[in-house]
Amino acid sequence: MRTRHQTRQIAVGNERTGIIRIGGDAPVSVQTMTAGCTHDIDACVTEINRLAAAGADIVRVAVPERKDTAALPEILAQTRVPIVADVHFHYQRALESVAAGVHKIRLNPGNIQDRAQVNEVIDACRDAGIPIRIGVNEGSIIERRDKQLRQRELGRVFSNHKHGHLLAIMIAKLEEYVDLFAARDFHDICISAKSMDPSLVIDVYTEIAARFDYPLHLGVTHAGPKETGTIRSVVALGTLLANGIGDTIRISYASDPVHEVEDGLEMLYCLGLRTRRGAELIACPTCGRIQVDLFTLVQEVRAKLASEIELPMKVAVMGCVVNGPGEAEGADVAVFAGDRRGIIYVQGRRVANVPEAEILDRLLEECRGFQDRVRAGDATLGEKHVEIIPPDPIGELGSGARRIAAGLVEQITINRTGG
Ligand code: SF4
Repeated sequence: MRTRHQTRQIAVGNERTGIIRIGGDAPVSVQTMTAGCTHDIDACVTEINRLAAAGADIVRVAVPERKDTAALPEILAQTRVPIVADVHFHYQRALESVAAGVHKIRLNPGNIQDRAQVNEVIDACRDAGIPIRIGVNEGSIIERRDKQLRQRELGRVFSNHKHGHLLAIMIAKLEEYVDLFAARDFHDICISAKSMDPSLVIDVYTEIAARFDYPLHLGVTHAGPKETGTIRSVVALGTLLANGIGDTIRISYASDPVHEVEDGLEMLYCLGLRTRRGAELIACPTCGRIQVDLFTLVQEVRAKLASEIELPMKVAVMGCVVNGPGEAEGADVAVFAGDRRGIIYVQGRRVANVPEAEILDRLLEECRGFQDRVRAGDATLGEKHVEIIPPDPIGELGSGARRIAAGLVEQITINRTGG
């Protein structure tokens, strides 16, 4: 992991919602956006609270119409997570959102009619003490007002090297927008430049990081359904984050935004950029040796752990004893399935051997008990008391360890030249 790219820091939220810092040495935060209509207050509040419960640090809502901004005071009163108003085309929606008390504005200056209107939004945010995200998307880098110009430019862009020209245009547009804010001496901003092409996202943010020290909001826009959007997002955002670029992320799926939050957090946990909240589940992919319905078991364990376990304990669900013990080494609680049974271990100690129908309940009982002991100071996460020994010998051939120790295994030569 490289050192994180140094950026300025902005703050989003207040005492009531908690303040989320973006940039500098703040942990990388996870954002998402509601999928429903903002003016449907009850549904919007329910969705925001569900996303916050899933771990969203910041939630964005679209405010396309006056009735959406009119709903904001009631929504803000019933939620406890910083709210960002997503503004396109109508600068009045930004002014109304600021007046309603939102904690941040997302603006694409390219689709606001003129500079005076952008300036009005900047001044309103400055007075309210809230930041603005300047968002540039590949799809809107050329103003839609002039369709002929758009077509001419797109013709040029796509006639040669798509990626290179798009990258140049996105950076140029962003610099132009940032200059608007700098001219107003407003620096309480973070910036984004999204595309649906993961490789372009990597290149454009790498260029931006070299040019600006404003905090960066990462995202792959229109990533598609979760099934394919996960890969697109992880390729782009994971690469950038592993290279130290990115201060806040939003994964976008054509799906329930709870998945955006869950996957964003998991990515940050995997990269060591956030401290895990809740259990880490390890599970085998199964193979021809499987003798229980492991896929169902894993999904049930996952759902229960998410609702019942708060500590970052490692839980392993393994299909058999062949690779299970090795793969689950270091797990706080583990189950190795066998012939319609499951053998359960807690930090290397065998605690139960139960029939398949009882695996889920017993495993969770052990997880809850372990969590209680850690909280009471009677156990420590990540400790292993004894080696996990496979419950059944691997067979006459064994693991080979004895032969290796006795020097009975000849050195293996690997032929790297092929042939
Ligand atoms: S743990 Fe066993 S069942 Fe699972 S993939 Fe490995 S060998 Fe197959």
